[in-house]
Amino acid sequence: MEIKFAFKNLVLQPISLCNLNCTYCYLPNRDKNLRMKSEITEAVAKSIINIPKMRITWHGGEPLTCGLDHFKKLIQPFVFLEKEGRVKHSIQTNATLIDDDWCEFFLKHQFTVGVSIDGPQYLNKNRVDWSGKESYLRIIKGIECLKRNGLDFPIIAVVNHESLDKAKEI
Ligand code: SF4
Repeated sequence: MEIKFAFKNLVLQPISLCNLNCTYCYLPNRDKNLRMKSEITEAVAKSIINIPKMRITWHGGEPLTCGLDHFKKLIQPFVFLEKEGRVKHSIQTNATLIDDDWCEFFLKHQFTVGVSIDGPQYLNKNRVDWSGKESYLRIIKGIECLKRNGLDFPIIAVVNHESLDKAKEI
């Protein structure tokens, strides 16, 4: 019997770790360095081989903490599906670790890069690292790197009681 697949989106978590520790974060293992093995993505690629179109969203933790070399290994099993236009990649990142090498990789594999930022600096006070330092300037540095490399990016922002009436600033 032929199996019909209804889903078109797949979320993969390459690592549980995050380099930030936002006060509102709900992820339980963001302090643990649990990295996905490449055997997993090999199995996933085989399992979607008969699906005509798939969006793969890479999420964390902070997915870039797994390192570019490891990420290249994880993505390798999907490359032939990418080339046939059957897989598109997205990644959701806090942008603090983005550099030119990551941008080159995103461009090569035609990633959609989504950045998490809560608005201007005074609305990003909850986005701190593990030593309690604000991350805003590191996020902006990553965003500047994306711009310099010609990568457009959507953003997602956490809106709370402090920022609810600051739509224009956000
Ligand atoms: S950047 Fe995202 S995953 Fe990391 S601590 Fe903040 S909300 Fe959680």
